[in-house]
Amino acid sequence: MRHAKVRAYTDHTTVGQVVVDPDGGVTIGCACGMTLTNGPGWSLDEHIRLHRAEARFLALSAVAPPGIPRLIGSLPPASAD
Ligand SMILES: [Zn+2]
Repeated sequence: MRHAKVRAYTDHTTVGQVVVDPDGGVTIGCACGMTLTNGPGWSLDEHIRLHRAEARFLALSAVAPPGIPRLIGSLPPASAD
């Protein structure tokens, strides 16, 4: 699981320079190919932190031993409304 965490980190480093648009949009590329950006209710830094957290979660989930107690996955499905 440790290796998965390290790989998620290296697969999701930001690449290139921060680009600032005249309209206030701020973007930077991620090594995975996704473009990270700010938005109406979040900053670029918040998007980067969420993106890396999601990447770590997905990587660790993929290699987690069967039967390990989980927070996500043990919850009831979210209601559709
Ligand atoms: Zn990424």
